[in-house]
Amino acid sequence: MEPGRIKKISVIGAGMMGHGIAQIFAARNYDVILIDVQQGFLSKAIENIRSNLTLLAQRGIGDPKEIAPTIQRIKTTLDLKEAASEAQFVIEAASENLVLKQKIFQNLDSLCPPETTLATNTSVMSITEIAQNARSKERIVGTHFWNPPYLIPLVEVVRGEQTSQKVMDLTFDLLRLVGKHPVRVNKDVPGFVGNRLQHALWREAISIVEKGIADPKTVDEVVKKGFGIRLPVLGPLENADMVGLDLTLAIHDYILKHLESSPQPSPILRKKVEMGELGFKTGQGFQGWSSEDAKLSRTKLMEYLLKWTKDQGEVKKGDGR
Ligand code: NAD
Repeated sequence: MEPGRIKKISVIGAGMMGHGIAQIFAARNYDVILIDVQQGFLSKAIENIRSNLTLLAQRGIGDPKEIAPTIQRIKTTLDLKEAASEAQFVIEAASENLVLKQKIFQNLDSLCPPETTLATNTSVMSITEIAQNARSKERIVGTHFWNPPYLIPLVEVVRGEQTSQKVMDLTFDLLRLVGKHPVRVNKDVPGFVGNRLQHALWREAISIVEKGIADPKTVDEVVKKGFGIRLPVLGPLENADMVGLDLTLAIHDYILKHLESSPQPSPILRKKVEMGELGFKTGQGFQGWSSEDAKLSRTKLMEYLLKWTKDQGEVKKGDGR
């Protein structure tokens, strides 16, 4: 199917990611069916979409007159059959549980029309394993959105072992049509690209704290006030090219043996979790967090993302993505 002919999208799971993904498509004039396991979750999702669109419109991103029509384009249901039978493209954003996802894809495979593409928003799981119980494995693909999906442009389009080229291309093109920034991940590896990079950094950050090299606040400052500033315009491989691969080799020859390479989570991370030091939600993680601090930090992030989105000019009037 041509991406331009796709008009009906189903989103499975109306939680943190699912409601935002439904919003992206509805704001671009697609008919969306959103499904969850309880009516209350669906009502909450619609409320969240309304409040996201209102906030975007307040910041000049999207037209306030489009809020009601956008929401009207989203139908909610508890019935997978209803969500599946007419969908031309399905995105699953249910809880991160392999057995649950395998079951959902087995059901979708038997309920959806044969030409429908079936995508999963899993954060780290194997697309191939998720597709295991389905017959038409070639139409199952990963679409890894980042939170909040209507503000972060990137979507990793992940090829499972059996995913067809046609499905990879169609998924990529559809995501471009709705204003996202898709990238192709050619191998179905845990963590895809984004989470491999992100958690390589987090592992080193935790290790630096564990070894007493610097405290958590300092580690974060080094990123935020240092190399983090240039990351939006200079990726690590561009940076290596900029400084020269000869210098990069010399640095790696010297430093790599000193970096953290443990295949296990850090003992201090494990200990903190055992002690109930979970971060914002318990008031103590690597640092202490009062509820005001936690709220302020979330607000700062949201304000930054809204400003960034507006500055990019990627969101045209009426979008509300
Ligand atoms: P969430 O817990 O907020 O939402 C999951 C929703 O799925 C819940 O509302 C739940 O009721 C629903 N659900 C469970 N079983 C279902 C079923 N059989 N049919 C329909 N709905 C069902 O989780 P989330 O954070 O939105 O994550 C969803 C998926 O997206 C996960 O695979 C997660 O790993 C992935 N993801 C999350 C993030 C993130 O930052 N939260 C980022 C990228 C990807």
